[in-house]
Amino acid sequence: MNIIVLVKQVPDTTEVSIDPKTGNLVREGVESIINPHDRHALEAALQFKEQHGGSITAISMGPGQAVDALSEALGMGADDGILLSDPAFAGADTWATSYTLARAIEKKGDYDLILCGRQAIDGDTAQVGPQLAELLGIAQVTSVCGVESLESGSSRVLKRIKGGRELIHCPLPALWSVVSELNTPRYPHMERLIRACDPKSAIVTWNAADIGVKTQDVGLQGSLTQVIATFPPKTERKGEMLEGDPRSMVSSLVARLRENKL
Ligand SMILES: Cc1cc2nc3c(=O)[nH]c(=O)nc-3n(C[C@H](O)[C@H](O)[C@H](O)COP(=O)(O)OP(=O)(O)OC[C@H]3O[C@@H](n4cnc5c(N)ncnc54)[C@H](O)[C@@H]3O)c2cc1C
Repeated sequence: MNIIVLVKQVPDTTEVSIDPKTGNLVREGVESIINPHDRHALEAALQFKEQHGGSITAISMGPGQAVDALSEALGMGADDGILLSDPAFAGADTWATSYTLARAIEKKGDYDLILCGRQAIDGDTAQVGPQLAELLGIAQVTSVCGVESLESGSSRVLKRIKGGRELIHCPLPALWSVVSELNTPRYPHMERLIRACDPKSAIVTWNAADIGVKTQDVGLQGSLTQVIATFPPKTERKGEMLEGDPRSMVSSLVARLRENKL
């Protein structure tokens, strides 16, 4: 069972702040981590490898520093890593991200399963998994919370839905995006982590030429969406104290709620 796991490096915070002058995310002083949902995808891959053999390749698209996320993936037990890094990939929206990942996965080939997290805690769109499956023309299951069986060419997986779980028969190769209830990720192994940080480790870097994509199809140029402006939401609150006897205060409160259609 050959498995590809997508790992995204994200800022270690859910409260990203935006530079009011440039409109860009403030990344200075914020530590980077593997997207927490992707750690569950990695853990699932490791358990499947323990049961069925095969190999695990972690893939990340990002700047050079995203190699740290791949090193951690190797520290957890992935066999090798591919960093997709090129100035041409910068500014990618979810479409351009999925397109770049798809071309890299096609180049790598020979996989039964692609695992990714439900969503990234910074971008939060949950679009990359489904878009990638579409681009590769393979089956997909989102919000995977359990696995009943996994064999060559077929699987039975549980998908989390509102108020319950759905059992899905899914052919392989397929892409699953996983939710955190699927498992508890293991900690990286210190020795493996040290080996992964070695420059001669099993992590390779591919640029645009390596995966055969044109500059105009990736990054900002290849993005179908453009950010016009970014700004933190305005939270304007005002308080009002009602005074008087309890009956009149209740009547005024109900009137206010009706007035504001609450
Ligand atoms: C118009 C637009 C412009 C943007 N410009 C920029 C920019 O200039 N710079 C910038 O840094 N970001 C930019 N982004 C954000 C960037 O597009 C997203 O971070 C990226 O496409 C992934 O989307 P997401 O974070 O919502 O991931 P989701 O779809 O929520 O992620 C789901 C899963 O997909 C996998 N995944 C997602 N991204 C990657 C990745 N890069 N490598 C490997 N696996 C991955 C992970 O397993 C993740 O758990 C832009 C977004 C938009 C919409």
